[in-house]
Amino acid sequence: MSLIVQKFGGTSVADADRLRNVARIIIGAYRAGNSVVAVLSAQGDTTDDLIEKAREINPGASKREMDMLLSTGEQISISLCAMAIQAMGYPVISLTGWQAGMHTNSDYSAARIKRIRTDRIRRELDKKKIVLVAGFQGINRSEDITTLGRGGSDTSAVALAAALGADLCQIYTDVDGVFTADPRTVTGTHQLEEITFDEMLELASLGAQVLHNRSVEMAKRYNVNLEVLSSFSGKPGTKVKEVVSKMEKSHVSGVAKDKNVARIALIGLADQPGIAFKIFSLLAKRGINVDIILQSIGRDGSKDISFTVAKGDAEAAHQVMEDNKQAIGFQNVEVNTHIAKISIVGAGMVNNAGVACKMFEALFSAGININMISTSEIKVSVLVDEREADRAVQAVHDRFFNEFGSEG
Ligand code: ADP
Ligand code: ASP
Ligand code: MG
Repeated sequence: MSLIVQKFGGTSVADADRLRNVARIIIGAYRAGNSVVAVLSAQGDTTDDLIEKAREINPGASKREMDMLLSTGEQISISLCAMAIQAMGYPVISLTGWQAGMHTNSDYSAARIKRIRTDRIRRELDKKKIVLVAGFQGINRSEDITTLGRGGSDTSAVALAAALGADLCQIYTDVDGVFTADPRTVTGTHQLEEITFDEMLELASLGAQVLHNRSVEMAKRYNVNLEVLSSFSGKPGTKVKEVVSKMEKSHVSGVAKDKNVARIALIGLADQPGIAFKIFSLLAKRGINVDIILQSIGRDGSKDISFTVAKGDAEAAHQVMEDNKQAIGFQNVEVNTHIAKISIVGAGMVNNAGVACKMFEALFSAGININMISTSEIKVSVLVDEREADRAVQAVHDRFFNEFGSEG
């Protein structure tokens, strides 16, 4: 007998029919002799709708109250799904994050799981019950409800799988698995049979929301047997694992797009030691994460530095720079929130000098200008104008994966 953790996303539980469909999948695993814990997301656009409701009342609501509100979405799903399973004649119990022992830190709206007390879940499993757990939520040391950040139910599921020592963690979603790019916006994509944790972590961090990046981080750390599959098609999904048996022919596993990027450029800095240190320590002190950094060559004693931050941090970063204009010493600061980051990811690119070049060539052929470039062993990212983002992803994807564009 195996222990399986399954997770169902918002589209998969959006209405009564879909909840019944999910109930049938869960019961199928249970009837096959497994212990089953299923983590559910809020139905459809519930989380977005709740955020909108809060905005109508108070756009500056505290994060604590936001978490109190947003956690209700998942509670609706687990109770309704439990009712569907009861109606089909199987023993089931639904548990909130708190009841399931999900303890987090107090970082409201972006809480991190600290530990999971699994005794309640185990007791229910021992009673041969199917256990449904509300995703995305936990409880902090003050016994307040916290949430894990958008898309966080994936992380709830993987964390539970790790804590319970589950044999398998299945992330059921609205596409058949992980594809070479978002199959909803890019044509000619194909599904990957398997992908490494490292590549999936990069893809997820670079904008492929099919998995929450922290869920992949956790799966890697605890070596969780992870699979992404559709709750609709019944087709085999994508396995996410430490080592995959075959490498993609083209050295690249996927292309991702992230529109949550803003670029801050500081023009006319003195070309002398200590400037970068000043800028980035000011940002670090305010907890603003910086991604890509570019410094121009110094000329006539002057240089420029630009860097990217998440869109939500752009205003704060801008303000910090303005507030410290004298101390840093620059002529002016420019903020651009109309950009997007396009990335290629692949463990196979580390030993292949031509991969980045192929990406740049694809963008050149499409007449798309590159603003910034950043590379690592397994990825190349470029910044482009937001309006060109979709065309850029398609052009790069065609170049690597389309049989006419690819050199293999
Ligand atoms: P869920 O509600 O099930 O958590 P999400 O909307 O969070 O689902 O994630 C699934 C979506 O991720 C897909 O519908 C797809 O549009 C998007 N996506 C982005 N990049 C990829 C990719 N490389 N492979 C598969 N899906 C992707
Ligand atoms: N309901 C939450 C969200 O929409 C969590 C999740 O779906 O994973 O972000
Ligand atoms: Mg999701």
